[in-house]
Amino acid sequence: MSDKRLRTPTLLSVVAPVYDEEELIEEFVRRTCAAVAEHPFELVLVNDGSSDSTPELLDRIAATDPRVRVVHLSRNFGHQAALTAGLEHAIGDVVAMIDADLQDPPELIGDMIAQWSQGADVVYAVRKQREGETRFKLATASWFYKLFDKLAQVDLEPNSGDFRLLDRRALNALLAMTERSRFLRGMTVWVGFTQTAVSYQRDARHAGETKYTVRKMLHFSLDAIASFSHMPLQLATYAGLLSAGVAFIAIPIVIVLRVFDSYLPGFGSITIAILLLGGIQLIALGVIGEYVG
Ligand code: UDP
Ligand code: MG
Repeated sequence: MSDKRLRTPTLLSVVAPVYDEEELIEEFVRRTCAAVAEHPFELVLVNDGSSDSTPELLDRIAATDPRVRVVHLSRNFGHQAALTAGLEHAIGDVVAMIDADLQDPPELIGDMIAQWSQGADVVYAVRKQREGETRFKLATASWFYKLFDKLAQVDLEPNSGDFRLLDRRALNALLAMTERSRFLRGMTVWVGFTQTAVSYQRDARHAGETKYTVRKMLHFSLDAIASFSHMPLQLATYAGLLSAGVAFIAIPIVIVLRVFDSYLPGFGSITIAILLLGGIQLIALGVIGEYVG
């Protein structure tokens, strides 16, 4: 086949979203810079509206190290939006996305680049093991991936997160997608190109606690499913068909009862039918509203 020459990065961009991470941000920068030092690189840190001393720390780091660039967001937009902002600012021909809390070991970026240099355009990190996560987090994550796998139209590796490396071609395709609610790991699969995995052990957080509240997790999962599945819409259609079917069966029954019975026996069932149909219409409207929104 065609000769696959090994490619080397002209510039590697490492992008990390940072939200209230004053306890560990310096350690993250130190470890990450050391891990990728053999390549020409830039580190793009996105301050996602932190309210602790993270912004000042970031500015100080950027002032002393020209390889570090900081993007400040005006408020907390959330992990996926912050990551997207960082990807937009990245100028490298290879881009790695990584969490700043050192749960994703920056040393793995070297392995990802090795895969990229052999021709992979999207390299995703698959966690063999997850240290220091609560049982709640592990259980909800596993439910989410099962549901997503059933409903969604992309094949997402269940034990992979946003720790990924993208070639500029794949990144440009991803940035061309204009959706507001972004489920980045799904989008990196959706764009296609050559995809490869590397595996690693996910560490516990270096310091501090998770910035993903239950509310943020719920938003995140709903965005993911609404972006990659039509199932909720189809559900409304099925429910509508079913109720219409029931109504069609009920019509002759009501007529027969009217003809052979002197009373008004249909009153109750008609009321129920109206309520039922009204309810289903509202549900359907709600689902459509989700998508329009
Ligand atoms: N993060 C962010 N904005 C948020 C929540 C999180 O930028 O609203 C960052 C956070 O600083 C970290 C990464 O996203 O670098 C992953 O968040 P976290 O470790 O809290 O999530 P978990 O690993 O618990 O899922
Ligand atoms: Mg984390």
